[in-house]
Amino acid sequence: MKYDENNIFAKILRGEIPCKKIYEDDFVLSFFDINQQKKIHALVIPKGKYIDLDDFNINASQEEIIGFMKGITLVSKKLGISSNGGNGYRAIINVGENGGQEVPHLHFHLFGGEKVGKIVS
Ligand code: AMP
Repeated sequence: MKYDENNIFAKILRGEIPCKKIYEDDFVLSFFDINQQKKIHALVIPKGKYIDLDDFNINASQEEIIGFMKGITLVSKKLGISSNGGNGYRAIINVGENGGQEVPHLHFHLFGGEKVGKIVS
């Protein structure tokens, strides 16, 4: 499958659509989910054009993979939900059709600010 340049997160990365930005560096952009599911619901996306987790793990550079993973903790710390200083959170990635992925640009959901409940519903 080819990366869709017109997916909503690609437009956010290009600055064509606004977002409620939490954090940005060379590797990641983080912003609040527009359809908040928990007290805190953040998204963390890589800057590179990757459709999903498998595309990323197969094609991204070591630097991008490290930058993305570290980005999660930089964001969790900024939001005060890190296990290091806060009460923790759930990080999930939906992958593909069966995983329920709607936006075809890799993203972590970070849920926190309250107990997030069972892992699968
Ligand atoms: P997923 O189902 O894992 O692909 O999640 C996509 C997420 O993107 C959903 O939780 C949406 O609410 C969220 N979303 C869609 N459009 C926007 C937007 N413009 N700004 C922030 N979040 C968005």
